[in-house]
Amino acid sequence: PTREEITYFGAGPASLPTTVLKNASSAILNFQNTGLGLAEHSHRSALSNDILATTESSIRNLLSIPKDYTVLFMQGGGTTQFSAVAYNLLGYWVQGQLDKANGDIEVVRERLKKARMDYVVTGGWSQKGSEEAKRLFGEEKVNVVTDSKKVFGRYSGIEEEKGWKRTEGEERIFTYYCDNETVDGVEFPGFPRGLEGGVVAADMSSNILSRRVDVSKFHIIFAGAQKNIGTTGLTIAILKSSILQTQPTPTTLRALSLPIPPIMMSYPMLAKHNSLYNTLPIFDVWVAGEVMKGLVAAGGLAKQEEVANRKAEKLYAALGRAPGIFKVVPLEGARSRMNICVRAQPAELEGVFLKGAEERGFLGLKGHRSVGGIRISNYNSITEASVDSLVQYIDEFVQKNAQ
Ligand code: PLP
Repeated sequence: PTREEITYFGAGPASLPTTVLKNASSAILNFQNTGLGLAEHSHRSALSNDILATTESSIRNLLSIPKDYTVLFMQGGGTTQFSAVAYNLLGYWVQGQLDKANGDIEVVRERLKKARMDYVVTGGWSQKGSEEAKRLFGEEKVNVVTDSKKVFGRYSGIEEEKGWKRTEGEERIFTYYCDNETVDGVEFPGFPRGLEGGVVAADMSSNILSRRVDVSKFHIIFAGAQKNIGTTGLTIAILKSSILQTQPTPTTLRALSLPIPPIMMSYPMLAKHNSLYNTLPIFDVWVAGEVMKGLVAAGGLAKQEEVANRKAEKLYAALGRAPGIFKVVPLEGARSRMNICVRAQPAELEGVFLKGAEERGFLGLKGHRSVGGIRISNYNSITEASVDSLVQYIDEFVQKNAQ
């Protein structure tokens, strides 16, 4: 089929706006009449620096990122950030404690014994984040604050904060959560109020740029680009700059028997080199910049939030019109606007639904292999008209299959 004949509702990599891809296809061949494709240009050229600066300024504009925050462009995907966040925030805590103890390493060694990293586990991705912290620093260093699978029997909701078992006071190294669980279709409706004022890291890989965010509430926000930002290969981390300035030396880490972060996961090192410690995929940065340019032109994140919410409401409403056939998996209040996870009943209808969808050019609707079912990914590149067409198909399907 041609691009025009299909709509891709896959969970990631996601489809990108056709105009961006058209420009990208000529950029990769001959960028701005330089005779050289963008993926061939040096990452240290003036042209690349310009692309980096423009893309950074667009994301700063879109998310109203405060001045005391640093934006890093990295590789390695969301998964590399699972490790990088833990290394760098542990470093931040260690150095903070060392400063308070006037450099007395024995005091820090004692404090470290009781210190814990708090993980809010609401789905497969935060679970993976917590597993990585356990692998790097030891099972006993990780405190799972809440585990939705234990509370609800599966990753289908978010436990009320008053039930969370948090590490108290200075023994808490940081709190980590995933804002939108791509596989399970669970999204935080907003910033978890109980976390206000603490050191918080959030994985926004699958919902970044779909709504406004108060960046000042976070120490770290990260996102792989391949859903709402651009192409696979780029990862963006937004950090409170104090994290960069407050880090222990390798000697201190060694003295405390703590691992030293690999150089490519050292936020201070990447920041010092303006994200160019090594070869950055500038083509991917440029694609991200083009996507962001489109968002800015369309009215920024206030507008995008309005559109994303309306598209999600339309889809949930269509599914809700047929409770005998469709059952949305996540509970109300925790339902994602980006990944809508639903089961059809009887189960044979799922295959029929997916086949009919495919015949109409609606692709990528099969649920993640670990959970099955149907998943409608409603990222920024999905137009409202596409959602309307899918809603029409859902309505027709219901009419045909209702007893
Ligand atoms: N976090 C979330 C929310 C994701 O959806 C994904 C991937 O789908 C990841 C992390 C892992 O990202 P990557 O595959 O870029 O490592």
